[in-house]
Amino acid sequence: MIYGESAAQNDRILDLNHITCNNCENQKVLQLHCYTKHIHVMFIPFVTAGKKAIIICSNCGKEYDVSNQSDTIKELVKIEKEHIRIPIWHFSGLAIVALIALSSITYNMWDNEQDAQLVKNPQAGDLYEYKDGAGWYSTFKISQVDKDSVYVFYNMQSINQASAIDEIDKPDSYWPFEESMSREELEQMYEDGEIYEIDRD
Ligand SMILES: [Zn+2]
Repeated sequence: MIYGESAAQNDRILDLNHITCNNCENQKVLQLHCYTKHIHVMFIPFVTAGKKAIIICSNCGKEYDVSNQSDTIKELVKIEKEHIRIPIWHFSGLAIVALIALSSITYNMWDNEQDAQLVKNPQAGDLYEYKDGAGWYSTFKISQVDKDSVYVFYNMQSINQASAIDEIDKPDSYWPFEESMSREELEQMYEDGEIYEIDRD
């Protein structure tokens, strides 16, 4: 991942005519620079690095840390910093992450809502993903439905990762005979969280 601090922005410069540069011993050459910086990740401004200040000699280029300066300078830094604003786009990356998180939460809520409807109204062809007590994931397919029961083809295979479930959902991995289950039992499995996903084409 490529990340780092950006170059200075919003540079606000104030001449410090009353102090001398210790390096080149010139007067009227020191300038107080106040600016903002941001952290970028993959070239996207991610979050602000805040307001910064430094004293730079315009003659010899020597840089001075403001934290070692007099209270007067420190007060000036404070006032100058109040005059610069952290641009909202410094937070672009953070906003993108928040949007992705929000849309995934919204999608999950919608998906759960759909599944809750599907389990109450099973149809032939519905694919159920479930987890057994030992932490294995597998599937079954509904073949028929009547008033009280569903008839399903169980998958012969199971896998230890929910995200890899597609690998075992192959036509020839299902038992060639049906088993029945009451609709009540099916709904209970969903209520208990054993069934965690239902897909209908
Ligand atoms: Zn200098």
